[in-house]
Amino acid sequence: MINKQKSAQHIKLPDNRTLMAFFCTIVVLLCAFAPSAILCEENNNDTLTVGVPIDRCPVFYLDESTNEVAGIGVDLMKEAAKEAGYSVTFKIIEEATLKEALDNKEYDLIMPFGSAISSAEGKESIVSENLIQTPFTLVTKNNVELPPLNNLRVGMLKSLAGAAESVTQLFPGIEITMYDTMSDSVKALRSDKVDALLHNSYVWSYVLQKPSYSDLKVQPSSMFSMDFRAGTLDSEKGRAIIERLNGGIEKIPDTKRQAIVLDYTTRKLYKYDLSDYLYQYGVAIVLGTLLLISIVTAVLLRLRNIKMEQEEKIRLLIDHDSLTGTYNYHGFKKRVEELLRNNPDVPYLLSYNNIKDFKYINDNMGRSAGDELLKYWVNTSVNSMSDEEAMGRIDSDRFVVLRRYDKQEQISKDDVDVLEPVRNYFINKGKGNRIQICTGIYVLTPRDYRQIDVDRMLDGARVAEEKVRLNRKEGYEFYNPEQWRKGKRDAEIISHLTTAIETGEIQVWYQPQVNIRKNEIIGAEALCRWNHSKLGWLQPSEFIPVLEETDAIYQLDQYVWETVCSDLKRWNEEGHNWTVSVNLSRRDIKDDRNIPGHFFDLINKYNINSNQLRIEITESAYVENPELLISTTSKLRKYGFQVEMDDFGSGYSSLHMLKEVPVDRIKLDLHFLSGGGDPERSRIIVSHMIQMMKSLDMNMIVEGVENKSQAEFLKTKGCEEMQGFYFYKPMSVEEFEKIGDKIKSVPVKKRTRKKQ
Ligand code: C2E
Ligand code: MG
Ligand code: MG
Repeated sequence: MINKQKSAQHIKLPDNRTLMAFFCTIVVLLCAFAPSAILCEENNNDTLTVGVPIDRCPVFYLDESTNEVAGIGVDLMKEAAKEAGYSVTFKIIEEATLKEALDNKEYDLIMPFGSAISSAEGKESIVSENLIQTPFTLVTKNNVELPPLNNLRVGMLKSLAGAAESVTQLFPGIEITMYDTMSDSVKALRSDKVDALLHNSYVWSYVLQKPSYSDLKVQPSSMFSMDFRAGTLDSEKGRAIIERLNGGIEKIPDTKRQAIVLDYTTRKLYKYDLSDYLYQYGVAIVLGTLLLISIVTAVLLRLRNIKMEQEEKIRLLIDHDSLTGTYNYHGFKKRVEELLRNNPDVPYLLSYNNIKDFKYINDNMGRSAGDELLKYWVNTSVNSMSDEEAMGRIDSDRFVVLRRYDKQEQISKDDVDVLEPVRNYFINKGKGNRIQICTGIYVLTPRDYRQIDVDRMLDGARVAEEKVRLNRKEGYEFYNPEQWRKGKRDAEIISHLTTAIETGEIQVWYQPQVNIRKNEIIGAEALCRWNHSKLGWLQPSEFIPVLEETDAIYQLDQYVWETVCSDLKRWNEEGHNWTVSVNLSRRDIKDDRNIPGHFFDLINKYNINSNQLRIEITESAYVENPELLISTTSKLRKYGFQVEMDDFGSGYSSLHMLKEVPVDRIKLDLHFLSGGGDPERSRIIVSHMIQMMKSLDMNMIVEGVENKSQAEFLKTKGCEEMQGFYFYKPMSVEEFEKIGDKIKSVPVKKRTRKKQ
């Protein structure tokens, strides 16, 4: 397409009108007779649109830095156009072939042509003079001998259809195969589908810079040369352009043409793509990648290991006992469930083992010695166990073991192999006593494998252990369902205590104490009675030991003491200064509880006299913790309370204690002495005890007097104070008040003591 643009012309108008008319005439004539000359003048500023391909660097390519078409062909055309007075713009050919491009009217010229060819629509074309002679060279694989030219199989690009036509004319024997892309043609060459590839030398100078084509070789001499021309359809306009362009082409000096070619063929125009880098640095890249993969893999593995180690640590913390390393409750439970699931045919037993008085081992031998003992136990046990068995520490000194129970002898064997060394642990170290171990054993039933409930089994073993412990002996005991029922009943007792106190289910009854010689009631013992809403009437002998086990006894005792003080206050107000004995459980006495202070507060609160309260402490408490008991007793007495040693003669009394413990009255339990054995021997013991108390100048009361002969006997031996069914049974407060006229009051003392 030719763009006609009128140039601005500045013409000076002459003064003379005639002269002006003359010039006008000349101009008209010139226009009439030399139109082409005027056209030339105008076309000096015309622009040619030249369609070119960009797939044959360095002849035609797209310069990425400027985004413009560049190359040898571009520069030659620019040079020719300039010489011909054209300015030129280049447009990338969109058509598949130059033949098709010829028919596109958007282009004034198409490049490059070797010679004129007909367009895709069959129209004739014309071409310009040759811009440059382009040598066409064959490229083969390295070290390959070319067959004679006439038998040659040559690969060419489809975009070189024109050149291919020329080759066919020049070398009729050559077989040409056309390929879409350079890489397709190279593949064909490498797989021997063709003997050589043909393209112009300039393009080869670019293409063979690709590293992976280093196995290709340019043949030393060019096969033929092709002209490099611009073309257009054969039309009037086309001929005019070609004619004018030819003028420009002629003016291009050869040195200029060579300089252009040299410029492009020596430039490093080829740009590496990924495949080139892979080809050139393939080994390094592969090694580097492998190294990177191994580093990443190593890091990931390490991270995974760290995570697994952490998980293992957490699992160990969750499932294991930090001191001994054996399972804790949680871990043991899980392991037992697993073992029972996996071994439904293995007979098992579950034992619950408890070191008796472990607290005192810790206190006397030191905590670390206690820890060592626990570790020793675990080590000794674990050494005797198989993988199908498990051990756990579920509390400070409580160990549970799941053991195969093929035969009864297993228990005796464990006793000898495991428990006996543990019992003798301190003896063997030459520093301490034999340890007592209480064990409860639950033998698994078929149901336990069907419905695995480890807690239930543990409860069974625990109940059996409790039986051993409460019976004050060591050794082992098998669980039986009665024990299980007892355990449940105990739980109901403990859990219901608070409500029972609040709702009045628990009452304080009084059992009068008499002076047989004076025939008067000298006081009473407060004994609690519990009408349990669910279990009915409960005896203290049942619920007191249960409450003592869990420390709940203190709650009950505080309630009883408070009730007694409140009753005493009421009686005081009615003018009766009676005396009442209250029971203090050995479990009530603890280092951090100021029991004497508590009683002192109570008598102040209810405005009663300290000599109205006798405090009974059972004899066994003195054996368990003499120091604390002695200090508590001394303090109570300092406040003015009378302290009694309850249940004296129940089996644990020591004569030595009588000397050490400061009590006001000894309460001898006749029941213990008359319960069994030779009655005559009991009488002798009792009479000597009474004699001894008198010699020691200690007061004494005998409880459990059930009949006249006992009462008479005691009286003849000089014991005057008694308590028992023979005189009165424990009675409700109302009944007690009914016999009030027989009850002796104590003198009211002035209270001056301060709380300590
Ligand atoms: P204990 O302190 O030795 O109380 C005397 C027990 O002997 C009472 O039993 C009483 O009913 C019973 N008894 C009295 N005379 C006779 C008799 O002639 N023959 C027989 N066989 N028994 C007689 P109880 O009330 O069943 O209490 C039993 C134990 O429970 C008490 O023994 C005491 O240790 C404890 N206990 C009772 N109430 C309380 C309380 O409120 N707190 C505490 N810590 N312990 C209490
Ligand atoms: Mg008592
Ligand atoms: Mg008693």
